[in-house]
Amino acid sequence: MTFNESESNRRGIKKIWTVSERAVRPIHSAAPILQSGHWEDFDPFLLMMEDKFEKGAFDVHPHRGIETVTFIIDGAIEHYDSATGGGGTLRPGDLQFMTAGRGVVHNETPAEGERVHLLQLWVNLPSANKMAEPRYQNIPAQAAPVRQEGGASIRVYSGSSGGVVSDTLNYAPVTFVEMSLDSGASIVQDLPGDYNGFIYVLEGSGTFGENGAGAHKGQVLWLGVADKAKMSSIRISADESMRLVLFAGRPLREPVVARGPFVMNTEEEIAQAYSDYRSGKFI
Ligand code: MN
Repeated sequence: MTFNESESNRRGIKKIWTVSERAVRPIHSAAPILQSGHWEDFDPFLLMMEDKFEKGAFDVHPHRGIETVTFIIDGAIEHYDSATGGGGTLRPGDLQFMTAGRGVVHNETPAEGERVHLLQLWVNLPSANKMAEPRYQNIPAQAAPVRQEGGASIRVYSGSSGGVVSDTLNYAPVTFVEMSLDSGASIVQDLPGDYNGFIYVLEGSGTFGENGAGAHKGQVLWLGVADKAKMSSIRISADESMRLVLFAGRPLREPVVARGPFVMNTEEEIAQAYSDYRSGKFI
């Protein structure tokens, strides 16, 4: 499909909400960006959290049936995973795209005394790929292709933006970009018409979509629908210097049964996940 910003495919903004942070513990505050349980509305996304935490906030834990996207805003984490037996450090602007597939056991820990600020998104896996081999794709800020255009700098971590294409592998097709726009800059992000998607404003404020919706730091904008058979576009204009992330993906339209760290299609598969984890099959 070629991109054409035609009248019929310009998206508006369907809904805006404001994220509020709460203290879970002194060493951990959390803000739900996408609340869990809205499976059909958010499909293929399951939930998204913004976390600020220190060492000790999270313990080693498993996942099955999902992919997670971790995007570092501030600070750094050491990550360890059972799939590769390896690990490394994620720093500001780095994105980790982890396919839990049939099962990973992992942990994410800031250095002693450090506080990390990150976003974590759960992306659902298609039923055919829920038991895929675990896979880690670490995309350092410097490694992501960048689209520079008219006062906007767009880092492409998955999918594409205006012809700048990421080589990140996908099961459910997804676009992840981070944008920094100078005050007054205006750009258009292209998306397949059948994608669901949203924007989260990290800094500044702007005007979005065909209905000229205004939003500022700490707000989420859910994208309006487009003609599903064509490419679509969303216009983003900065009223002041603005930084945001945009996530979009093709809905799976499959049943969701979620329990703790496991997201499958049936209750039986969830029971199997717990049984496999308890009998050590994730390592
Ligand atoms: Mn996890």
